[in-house]
Amino acid sequence: MHTACLRLVVWQARRPSSSSYHPQRCDHLSARVHELERQVEELKEAIEVERQVKQAERLLKEEEKNKRMCKICHGRQVEILSLPSKHLCMCAGIV
Ligand SMILES: [Zn+2]
Repeated sequence: MHTACLRLVVWQARRPSSSSYHPQRCDHLSARVHELERQVEELKEAIEVERQVKQAERLLKEEEKNKRMCKICHGRQVEILSLPSKHLCMCAGIV
């Protein structure tokens, strides 16, 4: 017996006014439950992909932010353009 069929039997057994188990309904509902379970798996995979994309975006954003941070104090954003080297690596707090 499929898991879905077993669930149907259990579900029917829990209902006090439930009629007896109907094997002819089992296959139909079983197929439907299997289809829904497949859809649930697909949605879980989609959610996982979405989670990974968001994580990658977060890391990129973090990396982008770090690029603009002062390389000396790491506490503020770069503001000073050093000349003539044109290095853009420190905040106004350093000079
Ligand atoms: Zn700084």
